[in-house]
Amino acid sequence: MLQFFLFRIFIVILEAMQQIKNYINGALTEPLSKTYLDNFNPSTGKVYSVIPDSDEKDVELAYSAAKAAFKDWSVTSKEKRSAYLLKIAALIEKNLDKLALAESIDNGKPLKLAKTVDIPRAAANFHFYGTGILHYASHAHSMEETAINYTLRQPVGVAGCISPWNLPLYLFSWKIAPALAAGCTVVAKPSEITPMTAFLLSEICIEAGLPAGVLNIVHGLGPKVGNAIVSHKDIPLISFTGGTSTGKSIASIAAPMFKKLSLELGGKNPNIIFADCDYDKMLATTLNSSFANQGQICLCGSRIFVERKIYDKFKTDFITKTKELIVGDPLNEKTKVGAIVSKQHQQKILSYIELAKQEGGKIVCGGKQLNLTNAFSEGYFIEPTIIEGLPYNCRTNQEEIFGPVVTITPFDTEEEALMMANSTVYGLASIVWTQNLTRAHKIANSLHAGIVWINCWLLRDLRTPFGGVKASGVGREGGFEALDFFTEPKNVCIKL
Ligand code: NDP
Repeated sequence: MLQFFLFRIFIVILEAMQQIKNYINGALTEPLSKTYLDNFNPSTGKVYSVIPDSDEKDVELAYSAAKAAFKDWSVTSKEKRSAYLLKIAALIEKNLDKLALAESIDNGKPLKLAKTVDIPRAAANFHFYGTGILHYASHAHSMEETAINYTLRQPVGVAGCISPWNLPLYLFSWKIAPALAAGCTVVAKPSEITPMTAFLLSEICIEAGLPAGVLNIVHGLGPKVGNAIVSHKDIPLISFTGGTSTGKSIASIAAPMFKKLSLELGGKNPNIIFADCDYDKMLATTLNSSFANQGQICLCGSRIFVERKIYDKFKTDFITKTKELIVGDPLNEKTKVGAIVSKQHQQKILSYIELAKQEGGKIVCGGKQLNLTNAFSEGYFIEPTIIEGLPYNCRTNQEEIFGPVVTITPFDTEEEALMMANSTVYGLASIVWTQNLTRAHKIANSLHAGIVWINCWLLRDLRTPFGGVKASGVGREGGFEALDFFTEPKNVCIKL
């Protein structure tokens, strides 16, 4: 009882109007304009903090600090850089409860998810690259007795890192950690919609004693701050995760400036279920891959293709299980589906449900905005929604909805399932359920995707390449691929 009481007091303190600050040159600073934007708690629809409405002048300050810091940081030994990253990882772990609560309030995701996935993964990102850099090696190419080539891998310079709102600290740190490990300094922008844990990360970096200017975090709007980072003439590298249309606009600015670009973009991932699958495992995981984080994970399987032999059984069981999901207060331990991140995004998702109806889809579960009571009466909730009866090539099945909405479609043959799976402009991830090993290999080989999960979902080894094909992005994150991205190879040839 006392614990519950203290927890609620903690929430009240955290929710008391907090002013988020930029983190520039090692200090928490106000935006030069002294203007701020409202930050909403999506589960209550209320403003609970304000964030800097920064602009290109703040970005310039951050760039100058990062440029000055690059001189030392780029030649700091990898052992020392590693020690800083490991210290940050340890501080994230130490502050797990505080960070998880902040993430849940800011984003609307269930606290349990933030505690078990988002924040541990943010710590793991720093830990992974803090140790990974110690094992990063470059190549040598011998020309027998004629010459020897060796390749240096040097940090590129000041890196621009821009991240989205769905997995705020998780994805922010997934860029920052390898950049810092590689010896780059950073100007970063989290999503203006979920800035809180990036702000708390600034405090952690100060506590860790990270040298001033090595990491700079500028808060504000994408078209202002994000655009200023992308179009800055002296920032030679951009690592971006977000929507495909934003990625397109970033590429159009950065490509003529010959910037190095990593773009992790949208998805419309297929989940292909064959009749011979391990049914119970498939059903439990499909529930998760459909609705985890309110369906707002770029890797969610939003198009579910089911072999006709088990389609009716799957449909009945899937609807039953989906109806059991508790939607509501993100801080309640039992909640499985929290609030949608913003009112605007909630409206976008609802408009896609309307579109599905117009396209002839039948809503077999959910389909509506959920109006809760009391503190949550103005929160942004949507019932987990299942739609059937749509052709594979209609807009609902081709465009990214990024919410708790999935379609279910039967198929008869492997070829048909593959054709439908590969029919979108996207190619991020795919999920396949089958016990037939030969078929699993064959399908994995033919899917247009950067990641294929067979009989699982979201099982991640941080050493593996992460990214998509087609409109899902350019380049790969993860493992040494990220360290390659944040370094420039320079070949040295010595004639013997
Ligand atoms: P957006 O593209 O709207 O925004 C992503 C980031 O870019 C935000 O920080 C945003 O700032 C900023 N931004 C917006 N406009 C510009 C601009 N003109 N120049 C520079 N930066 C800009 O995506 P969302 O935040 O809505 O995220 C959801 C999308 O991200 C989905 O499409 C999802 O699939 C994708 N995603 C992809 C992942 C992957 O690994 N492939 C992982 C996670 C998400 P602000 O918020 O202030 O507008």
